[in-house]
Amino acid sequence: MNEIINYFSSIPSSHRALILAGGIAFFWLIETAVPFVKFQYNKWQHAGINLFFTLTTIVVNFGLALLLLKTAQWTTENSFGILNWLPELNPWLFAIVGLLLLDLIGAYLAHLVEHKVKFLWRFHLIHHTDTWIDTTSANRHHPGESVIRFIFTTLGVLIVGCPMWLVFLYQTLSVLSTQFTHANISLPKKMDNFLSYFIVSPDMHKVHHHYVLPYTDSNYGNIFSVWDRLFGTFKTLDRDKLVYGVDTHMKSEENNKLSNLLSIPFQKYRSSNS
Ligand SMILES: [Zn+2]
Ligand SMILES: [Zn+2]
Repeated sequence: MNEIINYFSSIPSSHRALILAGGIAFFWLIETAVPFVKFQYNKWQHAGINLFFTLTTIVVNFGLALLLLKTAQWTTENSFGILNWLPELNPWLFAIVGLLLLDLIGAYLAHLVEHKVKFLWRFHLIHHTDTWIDTTSANRHHPGESVIRFIFTTLGVLIVGCPMWLVFLYQTLSVLSTQFTHANISLPKKMDNFLSYFIVSPDMHKVHHHYVLPYTDSNYGNIFSVWDRLFGTFKTLDRDKLVYGVDTHMKSEENNKLSNLLSIPFQKYRSSNS
């Protein structure tokens, strides 16, 4: 455990970049070899848009990183936050509880609020406009949403009282987990179902990308599935019934054009048809 703590305390940016790029490459190869849905799409053009949004997400997170770092430092120095208020835990338990709490506050709750608050949905919507979900969709976030998510992550770190190594560990697991759940792959049904009792499985997150309510407003989980199961937001849908996208933006000239995707948050608000 000490090695893990030491490594993630000072994980070089180059390693983080390598994990991100390596993950995309790994799942890209698998989904090209054995795709779950045989999309009729230009995979490179589609990846171009999503990798642009991945890049803007990296820029936003890099630009604001100091704020996160200072927040984590402050909680440790002042013994602030849930982890610091709990009795002393063994390091493994400390890590698991910390990851679960960060997942709840910084990810699950943030995601739920993005769906419920109109102003935030305007930005998060861009993630949902993708009609071809593959591993590159994982970080398709409007730069505005990247800022919103950053604020929630920082709040999460503050409330949980997370040391920086745990934040870096969480973010690394989160990158790999979202690449896995968005990848255009299908696990054996039983295996997917089994996994979904512990972590967000590919089938579980794909339901979140079904184009109509109430499915869009379900399965908000990021790494762990327990929060959806606990708070009643867990839903299933047969694989053959899945249609990706969001009903308000199903035209390809709107959901597959970078300039339009960037301007969607500032366009007239559209209510869901369902
Ligand atoms: Zn969503
Ligand atoms: Zn998604």
